[in-house]
Amino acid sequence: QDLKKTSNIITIPTVVHVVYNTSTQNISDAQVQSQIDVLNEDFRRMNADTTNTPDEFKGVAADTEIEFCLALRDPDGGFTTGITRTSTTVTSFNTNDNVKFDVSGGKDAWNTEQYLNIWVCKLGSGLLGYGEFPSGSTSNTWGLGIVYDSVGRAGMVSSPYNKGRTAGHEVGHCFDLYHIWGDDGGSCAGSDGVSDTPNQADATSGCFSFPKTDACSPNAPGIMYMNYMDYSYDACLNIFTYGQKARMLAILNGVKSSLKTSPGCIPPNALDASVAIEIPLDTACGISSFSPEVTLTNFGSDTLISVTINYQIDNESYSTYSWSGSLPLLSSEMVTLPSVPASEGTHSFTTYVSNPNGSSDGYALNDSAQSNFT
Ligand code: ZN
Ligand code: CA
Repeated sequence: QDLKKTSNIITIPTVVHVVYNTSTQNISDAQVQSQIDVLNEDFRRMNADTTNTPDEFKGVAADTEIEFCLALRDPDGGFTTGITRTSTTVTSFNTNDNVKFDVSGGKDAWNTEQYLNIWVCKLGSGLLGYGEFPSGSTSNTWGLGIVYDSVGRAGMVSSPYNKGRTAGHEVGHCFDLYHIWGDDGGSCAGSDGVSDTPNQADATSGCFSFPKTDACSPNAPGIMYMNYMDYSYDACLNIFTYGQKARMLAILNGVKSSLKTSPGCIPPNALDASVAIEIPLDTACGISSFSPEVTLTNFGSDTLISVTINYQIDNESYSTYSWSGSLPLLSSEMVTLPSVPASEGTHSFTTYVSNPNGSSDGYALNDSAQSNFT
C-alpha cells in the first residue's frame, strides 16, 4: 500500500465541455490536456517563465497549492475522459450562459459542487473568456467559458492569447479573485481586495517592460502588469500573489469545500475501499491509551460488505480489525478501533485497508492514511 503523505494540495476535479459548430472549434484532446498542464504549472508556480517575474515582486509570488485533474469519474460513477463533446447549431455564444445548457444549444453542467466546469466554444465580440464568481448557494452555471482558440498552448491557438493564460484568469474569478486594477474605471479608489498587489489604475493590455508606473503607483516598482488577473498578453503573465492565494483558499475551504471531497478524480472500480483518520489528528488524550477513529468510504460500484482495517502506532506491529456491514457506492461509516497504548509524547498513527469483500482493491492510492500526533 502507498502511504498518503500529509499534504495541503487541493486537487480540483475538472470537466471540459467542447461545444462546437465547426470542426475547427472541436479542439483536440491534446489541446485540452495542454490547458490542464498550464493551469497546474501556473497555480503551482512551476511555469517556465517565473524567471520573468521582476525581483521586486518575487517575494510575493505564490505557489497556490491548487491543482487540477481532468475528471476520471462522471457524476453517475462511470468512466470518463473528463472531456465532453457537443455539436451545436449556435454559431457564436456570449456571456448570457446559453453555452451552459442543453436547451440553448450548449451543454448542461456537471454537478458544480463536485466539478469545475469549463465550457469551450466560439465566443463573439472578441471575448476571450468569462468566469462566474462563487456564491454561497449552488449555481449550475458556476465555472468558466473560454474561446476555443485560446485554450491551452497546443493545437488551434491564436497569438497573443496562445499560452493558456485565459483559463487561469477566469478560474481566478471562479475562485473569487478580482481584476488587479480593482475595476474602478481608472481611478485609484478601487481595490482587488488583496494587500500584496500594487494599486493599479486600469487594465494593462499588450506586453510592457519593467518597471511600468501609473497614476496609482507612480514610483518603481510600479504596477504588477504580469499578474494573471491583469489583461496583458499570455506571454507576459507569470504570477499569482500570496494575497490572491489566500482569497482562493478561503473559497475552496469555505463555500466550495465540497470540491475537496469530490470523487471526480478517483477512477471507477468495482472494489475500492478508502480510509481516512479522524482520531488521532494533532492530539490524542487518554490515560496511556486511546481509541482511534477512522472513516471508511466505499468508492467502488460494488457494495462493500467486509474489509480489513490495519493500524499501527509508530513502528509497532500492525493490529487488524475486521469490519463488516453494508456500504453502497460513495457512502461512509465512522469506525472506532480497539484502544491502543500510547505514552505521553509524539507518535505517528498509520492505517490502511485491505481485502475488500475478500478480494483485491482496484485503486490503492486511497487505501492508507497517516497522522502525527502528541
Ligand atoms: Zn477578468
Ligand atoms: Ca482503495
